[in-house]
Amino acid sequence: MKSLITGGAGFIGSHLAEKLLDMGQEVYIVDNLWTGRLENIAKIQKKKNFHLVVETILNESVMNELIFKVDHVYHLAAAVGVRNIMDHPVETLDINVKGTETVLRLANQFKKKILIASTSEIYGKHIDHTLSEDDNRVMGSVKKRRWAYACSKTLDEFLALAYYDEKKLPVVIARLFNTVGPRQTGRYGMVLPNFVQCALLGKPIPVYGDGTQSRSFTHVSDVIDALTKLMAEPKAEGDIFNVGNDKEVTIKDLALKVKEMTGSHSEIEFISYEKAYGPGFEDMERRCPNIDKIREIIGYNPTKNLTAIIQSVIDYFKE
Ligand code: UDP
Repeated sequence: MKSLITGGAGFIGSHLAEKLLDMGQEVYIVDNLWTGRLENIAKIQKKKNFHLVVETILNESVMNELIFKVDHVYHLAAAVGVRNIMDHPVETLDINVKGTETVLRLANQFKKKILIASTSEIYGKHIDHTLSEDDNRVMGSVKKRRWAYACSKTLDEFLALAYYDEKKLPVVIARLFNTVGPRQTGRYGMVLPNFVQCALLGKPIPVYGDGTQSRSFTHVSDVIDALTKLMAEPKAEGDIFNVGNDKEVTIKDLALKVKEMTGSHSEIEFISYEKAYGPGFEDMERRCPNIDKIREIIGYNPTKNLTAIIQSVIDYFKE
């Protein structure tokens, strides 16, 4: 079995590459190293069944050749991180819209099964219940840049389902909730690596807003396990699945837990959204998945709790 991972030098992609190699697959990755890093794949780069192509997914001839070669495509390449998305709106839309369009069109040309990594961001501003796959989306104004990411990924989902319905392309859509673990950097705004790094360095731990907003975090090992199982399950084709953890924590409590687990003397510093991201930024108050559907189809059950998750990130940064 041969698989291609777009964005394979990224945080999630590199863990997925390791897992597929362990499963005995031949793995090709394509990554333009915008946010992907060679150090993420240092451990596997010399392996016989591993092939790296440093290129953008917008390069059609390269993508044509790669997709032709493989059996499965895991499409993970996308703009990453709220900070990055706020700073690079054009690149975000380009890679998420044109990039996915290219990958889907070529996958369809050779009828190669494809898994699209989507995002919980597309649910938008829901607060009152856990999020199910068929829920409405609650988007903010077009003037608020954050929502461009959600809308571009929504378009990706529409296109993937259209290819499934109209062209019989086998596709699966995985909506990832906040995924964390070793190799994720705080550089693009992600909260947990940022908190852990600040705590270990004795710098103030920056909580944006009042810290009452909540998230549910999933360890990357649980996420990639789900991705490989969704890819292998024929009944998942043409459908959308939440991949997350339904245990919630407020960002303030997360900061306190990181402080406690690192034994840090860092202060917890509250910073306004405006100062953190610029004027008019809208955050999600709450984002927690309903995971009944994925549980049912592949027996998914996240194995790592918040303490284990935070510990793995602490260990990574200490190393
Ligand atoms: N956040 C924070 N401090 C940081 C980074 C993020 O308080 O250094 C907050 C952010 O405003 C959001 C939550 O943590 O409420 C999760 O942010 P992240 O960017 O990791 O993911 P999101 O769920 O917003 O995509």
